[in-house]
Amino acid sequence: MTARTPLMAGNWKMNLNHLEAIAHVQKITFALTEKDYAAVEVAVLAPFTDLRTVQTVVEGDKLPIKYGAQDISAHDSGAYTGEVSGPMLAKLRCAFTAVGHSERRQYHGESDELCNAKVKAAFKHGITPILCVGEGLDVRKAGNQVAHTLAQVDGGLKDVPAEQAETIVIAYEPVWAIGTGEVATPEDAQEVCGAIRGRLAELYSQELADKVRIQYGGSVKSSNVAAIMAQPDVDGALIGGAALDPEEFVKIVRFRD
Ligand code: PEP
Repeated sequence: MTARTPLMAGNWKMNLNHLEAIAHVQKITFALTEKDYAAVEVAVLAPFTDLRTVQTVVEGDKLPIKYGAQDISAHDSGAYTGEVSGPMLAKLRCAFTAVGHSERRQYHGESDELCNAKVKAAFKHGITPILCVGEGLDVRKAGNQVAHTLAQVDGGLKDVPAEQAETIVIAYEPVWAIGTGEVATPEDAQEVCGAIRGRLAELYSQELADKVRIQYGGSVKSSNVAAIMAQPDVDGALIGGAALDPEEFVKIVRFRD
C-alpha cells in the first residue's frame, strides 16, 4: 500500500478579509515547523478576494503552506458574471480548489454534472480538486449514506482519466456534521471513507485507490481529530469553523502530538 501524506485543509468559507488573511496565515506559518511539514501537508482554502494576499504572504517561505479556492468555474473565460476560472486560479498558483462543497450543492444547486465539469476544469489547469461528497441527515437516518455518497463520487469522476483521478482529493463530509458541532464517530467516517476507496478500486484499480487521499470533514477540532485520523482510510481533514482560529488549526495539524 502507498503511504499517503495526510492533507489538513482549512476551509475559511466566507470569512476573513484580505487584511485578516495576512495576520491569519502569518500566525500559521510562524507556528509550523519543519517537523510539521515533514508529516502533513497543510492548506488553506480562502475566499477569492484573499488569494492574491495569501500568495504574497507564503511565497518565498522555505516551507510554504499550500492554498487554494473554495470553488472554480467550469468555464475558462467569457460571459459568466461572478465566476472565477481555472486559468485565473492557476495564475495565482492555487494548488487546490474545493468542488461541490455541500454549501455549494445546497445553496447554489450544484449538481453532480456541474461538479464533474468543475473537477475537469481544475485538472485542465493543474489544480488539484478536493471533491466534497456526503449525505444529509435524512439519508443518514435511512441508512443510505454509503450509496448516496458513492453516487456523488461516480458523478464527480465521470470520464476523468486515471492519471488525473489518482491525484484527486475526496472529502467525505456528512452534511449533518458540518458547522453543527455534531461530529461523525470515527467508525462512521471510516465506513464511508473505506467505501469510497473501494469504489475507486472498482472504477480504476486498487493501486490507484491506494494513492488517493480521502479526508473527513464535519466539526473537526483538536479534541476529536486524532481519533478520526486513526482510521485506516482517513487521510486528512477538511476543517471549517475550527480553521478560523490559527492556534486551533495548528493543534489540528499536529494531531499526532
Ligand atoms: C467545512 O466547511 O467543510 C466543514 C467541515 O465545516 P466545519 O468544520 O465547521 O463543520
